Amino acid sequence: MKQGSSAAVLAVAAFLFAPVLIVMLFLGTGGAKAAASCGVGGTSVAVGNVPAKVGAFSGKQLENAAAIMKAAKDLGLPAAAQILGVQAAIGESTLNVIDYGDAAGPDSRGLFQQRANGAWGSYADRMDPHTSATNFFKALTKVSGWEQLEPSTAIHRVQRNTVEDHYAQFRAPAAEIVKALGGEAGAGIDASGACPSAGGAVVGQLSGKWVHPLPGAAMSSGYGPRPAPPGTVGGVLANFHYGIDFATPGHAGTIVAVTDMKIVKVRNMDGLFGTGVTGQTTDGKLTVGYYHMEAGSVRVKEGDVVAAGTPLGTEGATGNVTGRHLHMEFFPGALPNPMVPINQTTDPAPILKAQGVNF
Ligand SMILES: [Zn+2]
Repeated sequence: MKQGSSAAVLAVAAFLFAPVLIVMLFLGTGGAKAAASCGVGGTSVAVGNVPAKVGAFSGKQLENAAAIMKAAKDLGLPAAAQILGVQAAIGESTLNVIDYGDAAGPDSRGLFQQRANGAWGSYADRMDPHTSATNFFKALTKVSGWEQLEPSTAIHRVQRNTVEDHYAQFRAPAAEIVKALGGEAGAGIDASGACPSAGGAVVGQLSGKWVHPLPGAAMSSGYGPRPAPPGTVGGVLANFHYGIDFATPGHAGTIVAVTDMKIVKVRNMDGLFGTGVTGQTTDGKLTVGYYHMEAGSVRVKEGDVVAAGTPLGTEGATGNVTGRHLHMEFFPGALPNPMVPINQTTDPAPILKAQGVNF
């Protein structure tokens, strides 16, 4: 049975996880590449060494994309920022350094169509790919929670386009370019525009008691790329399943805490997630989201500290689903409310199995 990836669509998290990761093990030969996510440092190719063509883009456009990526990298920003920069510039200039504006901004210039209002430097600055990109990224990093925002919204807060989702259509080509130009790190980027994290990674040195999140249920869908299930809301992130699904055949099972955790978020009929609970393991190493519970079934409240096996709610079909199941996501680190498009989930299956949970 196909289960709603739903949460997958919004599902997502902060990239600031490195400090709390004790051990990351990369599985399989593709591991090193899988480790390279939007959450890690961006890489870039030399401007003079770009591929001839990526999708509909070529030549000078790709050199400009390389300059944008380099500007992000020079500021120490991750691949997630690089994609946003390229996405913004496609939306503003189709990656061309244009020496004219438009009706809304006749004085707009360059890759990012930056205005002559002093905020974006001199004319020469606005026409220079690296400098204009640097100024874009400096403004982006001042946007509160930019990593957690829907990408077009994050860009909009910098660019103030009249249409907030103007940039959404450029997400996939931007990711494709960053992937193509990003070398080793780029290989971990989903060309659909998602920022999958190290899905093959496990978080090591977890301790305490661990139990099956939905006793008696089988895993019905694993973590990783998959088509959006028919009947669910798609979207730019919908072809990657950011968690794992468990379903109990024939009845609504009871969802329990997989280990000792502090409840940090309870959501009730909240968009694509439906009803659910998010908890941080008491050691702060992992944040766990449980979604699509039955409406009104949540038995814990924010701030509760619960032991492994404590009932959290009832398996349901709320939110963006095709049927009743538990969708569970793991995020390295202690996050207050992970549900962002710039995803930093990790595959729960190897973590659960390493803790002796069989399914
Ligand atoms: Zn799911």
